[in-house]
Amino acid sequence: MRPLSLNTVTVREKWGLAECIEGCARQGIPGISPWRDVLQAMGIAEAARQIRDAGLGVSGLCRGGMFPAADAAGRAAAIEDNRRAIEEAHALRAACLVMVCGGLPPGSKDLPGARQMVADGLAAILPEARAAGVTLALEPLHPMTCADRSVLSTLGQALDLCDALGEGTGVAVDVYHVWWDPELPAQMRRAGERIAAFHACDWLVPTTDLVFDRGMPGDGVIDIAGIRAMAEETGYDGFTEVELLSRRWWAEDPDEVLRLIRLRHEALEELSPVP
Ligand code: ZN
Repeated sequence: MRPLSLNTVTVREKWGLAECIEGCARQGIPGISPWRDVLQAMGIAEAARQIRDAGLGVSGLCRGGMFPAADAAGRAAAIEDNRRAIEEAHALRAACLVMVCGGLPPGSKDLPGARQMVADGLAAILPEARAAGVTLALEPLHPMTCADRSVLSTLGQALDLCDALGEGTGVAVDVYHVWWDPELPAQMRRAGERIAAFHACDWLVPTTDLVFDRGMPGDGVIDIAGIRAMAEETGYDGFTEVELLSRRWWAEDPDEVLRLIRLRHEALEELSPVP
């Protein structure tokens, strides 16, 4: 079976990192992707030890990025914070540091300028990432988040940046953000071995919140198995990381949420067995 991973944001309202690690072990989920807040709450070294002792792989660390800022001091602070994130990803032996690159600075209408700040920020931290052996996985986000979370909206844009920056960069393919893109098949082929992470959840109809209404895999309209197959055609054989930001699922018993995630993963596996 393809390896499954839990992004800790999925159960963030009820579980800290210790409960997530225990829950993955209990539910037979072999991977985890912590957010930095729960990681720092436990302490980096202790988290690395507990994750290792539980035998879990780390499909990524969420998240670096958020480079654009209104002034030079703000941009420098973002770069410093990203350097700490690289150290944390290295300590966890994470498959990558997921980069949510940031939106427009407050009050700004300068979209090309914000995109340049993202490119400059990535270039500034790339030497540290390379030295630590941490892949910066650029995650394009759905264009509805362009103003406040990511001016990087398509896989093609992310790959243009990877082309410009070179070694040490890759992409995080999150089906929620890229499923609508008519260029997706071509851009997935172009990505090739640069796919560093594969994130899964579903697009609900109707979607009632721009951030917090992601669907459980299987409850929406995304052809998750089809997009995973595109990734595998490039050679990707890593984790399918389930990442649900959802008020509906945050209200449930986290053990039940994990159990359902595993069942939905198994159902997808039956639809499209590993070749
Ligand atoms: Zn994601």
